[in-house]
Parts: sequence; structure tokens; C-alpha cells
Amino acid sequence: MYRSHTCGELRTPDIGTRVILSGWVQKVRDKGFVVWVDLRDRYGITQLVFDEQRTTATLLAEARKLGREFVIQVHGEVIERTSKNPQLSTGDIEILVSEIKILNPALLPPFTIEDDTDGGTDLRMKYRYLDIRRNPIKNNLIFRSKVAMEVRKYLSEQGFIEVETPYLIKSTPEGARDFVVPSRMNQGQFYALPQSPQTFKQLLMVGGLDKYFQIVKCFRDEDLRADRQPEFTQIDCEMAFVEQEDVLNAFEGLTRHLLKEIRGIEVEKFPRMTYDEAMKTYGNDKPDIRFEMRFGELNAVSQHRDFQIFNAAELVAGIAVPGGASLTRKEIDHLTDWLRRPQIGAKGMVYVRCNEDGSYKSSVDKFYDQEDLKKWAEATNAQTGDLICVLSGDTMSTRTQLSALRMEMAERLGLRNPLVFAPLWVIDFPLLEKDEETGDYHAMHHPFTSPKPGQLELLDTDPDAVRANAYDLVLNGNEIGGGSIRIHDKKMQSTMFRHLGFTEEEARAQFGFLMDAFQYGAPPHGGIAFGLDRLVAILGGQETIRDFIAFPKNNSGRDVMIDAPAPIDKAQLKELNLRLENNEG
Ligand code: ASP
Repeated sequence: MYRSHTCGELRTPDIGTRVILSGWVQKVRDKGFVVWVDLRDRYGITQLVFDEQRTTATLLAEARKLGREFVIQVHGEVIERTSKNPQLSTGDIEILVSEIKILNPALLPPFTIEDDTDGGTDLRMKYRYLDIRRNPIKNNLIFRSKVAMEVRKYLSEQGFIEVETPYLIKSTPEGARDFVVPSRMNQGQFYALPQSPQTFKQLLMVGGLDKYFQIVKCFRDEDLRADRQPEFTQIDCEMAFVEQEDVLNAFEGLTRHLLKEIRGIEVEKFPRMTYDEAMKTYGNDKPDIRFEMRFGELNAVSQHRDFQIFNAAELVAGIAVPGGASLTRKEIDHLTDWLRRPQIGAKGMVYVRCNEDGSYKSSVDKFYDQEDLKKWAEATNAQTGDLICVLSGDTMSTRTQLSALRMEMAERLGLRNPLVFAPLWVIDFPLLEKDEETGDYHAMHHPFTSPKPGQLELLDTDPDAVRANAYDLVLNGNEIGGGSIRIHDKKMQSTMFRHLGFTEEEARAQFGFLMDAFQYGAPPHGGIAFGLDRLVAILGGQETIRDFIAFPKNNSGRDVMIDAPAPIDKAQLKELNLRLENNEG
């Protein structure tokens, strides 16, 4: 038997008990006549004591030889501590050790295994197994397990069944590049790793399973932005005989369950906002509604004077920053510089201070009078003491820039409290998205998303106007889930593929199986997928999803611990009938 108790378990009532503990040496403190050792495992830390009066000289000498992270087993008696440690759950007791066994010595770890470590990210990732011993990461993984468990519990109770779908498949278009896997048995042919189980879950509906879910890995070979992983986990779901309303209700239920069970928070019915409304009021299809600063569109009240910059703009819009009137000229200049950085790309910013006496002072007083500025204040819902920040230009860029400013100001004002949760549904997304470079249209969600009833005809005349039965769940400015009601009819699916630029043959070659299935009695169906990594991080009140993944990849898609990706040897290449260009192989 390695242990009778864990290192987080013993308390005052256990005093006098003989115990066996196993764990890692966190710390050794040698005071000469007495040696204390902190012994750690997943459950906590228990203090071991060796002293000249009660311990043999040999044992004391052995204790002195212990190094950090040695794995040891001790036998001993639980005794009361003279100086108690209220910070520690086991802080009232210690173990008077009578026997010690080194199960495995350890090299000196490259960083300290403490809550606040001295290890930088690269080092922590290279030695992730040591990082996982630290409370912040360990607790995150335990938290993640709890969230996953609650998901399974809730969905099973609602009649969903968990079905696994294959990883070695053919491309599924979710808008990213596929990771491909060469087939040895079928030379010259490749599998693709699923960007999501999209087509399979639809086929499960054709198969009559009615309510499916799966906590599943998805793979997308995208250029990695901060905090994006090439492999990530989805809570993937699909339901048959449902309309949008049914899906929204089911997954609002799941989200509410998680907020309640995990965070103890009850939320009102989630607000809903159309995509158009979200873009107009927040400049963003995943608005953070924990705070106001809604956009006011100012074209009507700003384009009647001689201010050419506004007159030439497609959109003039502003936000009222609470309390911002107190910003100094220099601070406002800094803000303007911040907006002008290439990452944001604004040309400049017009501002209006809403003074305490009810008057306005703007950077464009030459062009606008108090009456004009009052109208701007009304449109942006500005109060005295606020600063109205106004941007202008083409609609899309102005919205994006103003949204960035809104988020930045909220951050500076401390309005993005991670422990406040503000979910909402964004609905009625456009069906298609235009690639500005090529002019081609892509599915905004994916090609299996159905247009709103009666809008199919618009595809030919006004593709930008077609709205989809597609929805996103947004939480604190993050898209945590997205889905749609699907096309379940072969003819409509073919029309869709045609509009997305697939020839009949291409569509057949890639998705023939799905269109065939649609001819054998496909029920109306729809679904959604939540990004589990991000959901867990948000529920955990944190930003970095990497800290909630046991073995994450870095920003170049590398696992620096196992050093992957890596070349494969010649024999393997040969077996796969592959040859590398510019390579001896
Ligand atoms: N497959 C979609 C995605 O991964 C989700 C869905 O439509 O259910 O975003």
C-alpha cells in the first residue's frame, strides 16, 4: 500500500493516527535541530517533521538529503502542530515521520512548482508535466473535467446520446484548411481530419438518432492567432424535427445549467439580437453586452456642415465613454494614436467633451455649434462628464475601429469583469460572405446552412441580402457556440453548392454521400457546436484557453514538449509512397 491518506486529507481529529503518505517534496526547511518537509500531491500539502528529540539521527540525515520533487513515501503519526498554518487546510497538524522511502529521486526542476512560478511560457510548455503539478493548471484541468461532466449530465438528461464519429475522413468545409493524413493501404490517397463532425452528425439525423451530442476534437489548419489551437474541442450537437427556436431553447438550457452548476449564477432569458442590429449597435457580431457604450450613428446630424471628412464618409458613428470628459488633451491624443496604429487603422478621431455645466467642447467647434453637439450627445446617449468619440469612413472599417475603441475603453474602465456573465443570441446571420479580394461568395457558416424561408430566390439577384437560419451564442464578447438549421433537401443543397462555386461534379465528388442520404428520407434538422476550450476558460473567469488544455500547442502550432511536428524517416515515406521535394528523401 502506497498511502493510507492523501496529502490534503488529515485534520485535527486524525491526531494520534498512524498514516502512510506518498507524494512529491515541495520544500525542505532545515533549521538544524529540526527539518520540515512539505509533501504534496493532487489533493494538497501536508507538513512532515523530523527532529533531534523524536527522530533517529539516520532518519534526520535522510530527510536532509531530500531534493525538490523527489517522490517519497513516509510512515508516521499525525501530531498537533505547535505553530498552526491557517492558509493550509492541513495546517493544524503535521506528521512525525518514523520511516521514509525514496520512491524516485528527481532532477532539479527547471522552474519552481509554485502558484506563482518563475518559469516563462516556453519553459512551462516544454515541461508541461511539471507545470500541471502547479495549482493553477491542475485546478483548471479539474474545472474543465467538471464542466464536461455537467455537459454530459445535462444533455443525457435531455435525451441526447453521445455518439463518436471518425477522425479519418474526407474534407468537411468549415472554412479552414484540412490537416491531411496519407493512407498507406490506399497509396496516393489521403484522409482529412475533421474540421468538425458536421456531415456525420447530419447523417446521424438521417439515421434516426434524433438527438446527438459528442465532446469531440476538431482540427483546422489555420494561421494561428493568439490563443487559437489547431486541434480544439467542441461540444457538438444535432437534433431532428426542430426549428431554430427549439435549438436555441435547448442550448440556452445547457448554458444556464452550466452557469448555475459551475458558477452558482442564475441568468435571465438570454437577449436576442439580429446580426444586423449587432453590427449597427456594437460594430461586432459577438458584442460584449456587460457594458453599454452603444454606437450612435451620426450621419443625419453631422453631414449638414462644411466638415468634408464627415460629409464624404459612408458612416459617421460615435460612442459615449463614461466619465471620459476628464481625459486630458494629451490622453486623448494618445488614444487617437492608439486608434491610428496599423492594427486598428483609423484615420483620426473627433471628440466632444460633455461638460458638467451642460455645455459641449469638441475638436470640431469650428464646424458644429452647441445644438449640433447636443444631437450627437442624444444619439450616443451621452451624459454630462462623458467623452463622445466619433469615427468616420466606410461602414465596415468604421464599425470595426469603433468596436475596438469600445472594447479598449471598457477594459480601461474596468467594465470587463470576468466574473459577470452576459450571454446573448445573435441570430439571422447572412447566408453568404463575399471575399473582398476575389469577389467570390463563401458560406458564412458552412454550406449546409439553410436560408430563411422564401429567400432562396434572392441568391441570384441580391446574394448579400440573403439571411440564414444561423445563430451564435455569445458570452462576454466571445463566440462560444454557433449553429444552424440545415438544408435537408437534395435539390436545395445542390443549388447551394452551385452558388458557392462548386461544379456539379465537384459537389458530387465531395458530398455525394450527403446528397444521396437526403434522398432516403432526411428529417428536418439543425444543431450547434460550442467551443469547449473557450467556454471553460470564460466560465473559469480567465482569458488564456491554453491554461485549460493539458497539452496545448504554441502559436506556431508546435508541441514543444514532444517536439511535433517532426520529419518522418525515409522508410516511412517510402511505405506511404511519398517523396519530399527539395529533399534527398
Ligand atoms: N459544425 C459547425 C461548426 O463547427 C457547428 C454547427 O453548425 O453545428 O462551427
